[in-house]
Amino acid sequence: MFGSHLSIAGGMVNALTAASAQGMDCVQVFTKNQRQWKAKPLVDEDVDLWISTLKGMGWDETNRIVSHNSYLVNMASPDATSRQKSIALQLEEIERCEQLHIPFLVSHPGARLGTPRKRGEPNALDTPISEDELGGLKRIVDSLDEIHASLPGYKTITCLETTVGSGTNLGYDFKHLGWIREHVQEPARVGFCFDTCHITAGGYDMSTPTRAKKVLDTFDHEAGTQHIKVFHFNDSVGDVGSRLDRHAHIGEGTCGKSCFRSIVQHPAFVDVPKILETSKEENSKGELMDVVNIAKLRKMAKTAKKHR
Ligand SMILES: [Zn+2]
Ligand SMILES: [Zn+2]
Repeated sequence: MFGSHLSIAGGMVNALTAASAQGMDCVQVFTKNQRQWKAKPLVDEDVDLWISTLKGMGWDETNRIVSHNSYLVNMASPDATSRQKSIALQLEEIERCEQLHIPFLVSHPGARLGTPRKRGEPNALDTPISEDELGGLKRIVDSLDEIHASLPGYKTITCLETTVGSGTNLGYDFKHLGWIREHVQEPARVGFCFDTCHITAGGYDMSTPTRAKKVLDTFDHEAGTQHIKVFHFNDSVGDVGSRLDRHAHIGEGTCGKSCFRSIVQHPAFVDVPKILETSKEENSKGELMDVVNIAKLRKMAKTAKKHR
């Protein structure tokens, strides 16, 4: 299942219409402005139109719709006031997903703040989680528990996203994601989003078939691949371990084709949405890059079927 993050400008339903027009299987949206604390509540009319469109496409009650939370949320903040503000905003994000029948809410785990690591220092992926980081992870667990307790029985799954580990951001090490899920009171409400650019820039090298398999095995061991509900399919401008979060078109970065191949050829991931977050430009032939990238990925998936 391949799709893209599409704009909701002019009305949320426009993202669905565009996804359908471009032959996508799934889509990611923001349900509100991702850079603002305040959002207007959803209007009944818009919700009805959204759901009737989903039904018309046969996408309602499926795993084809993904939302991304606000960039302002920091569930790991050591400051009580900003953590409470983040919890309130994250609650609203989940409320909106629930109203719009969106099963997955991709969320950045958060930044522990405090002493930053040295500039250019690579992520130490082979060492145990540090005390500072453990403090941040505990705050994320507490935040999620508080959110889940306030919204009992909600279906939307919070999908913690892998990060490059810039600043004091958590989630660059698969162990962080596993630790959070293992410690929350309702683990069924927590899943993961695996971003190919972020893991590469974070220090996981998937650029050959052997390395790619090893990385997926590591993820499985440390967090559980069965909990990956969403993939973000972005190639990486920065080198392996660069901690640079810049997305490139598929096949034009440092991830390597085997990174994408190992995922699209994996039978367990066939029905997991794979979302592009690459720039929405056109190539020299005037083709939309989303369409070009998805065609490349579908070809990789097809070759796999032939060879199996
Ligand atoms: Zn992403
Ligand atoms: Zn990114």
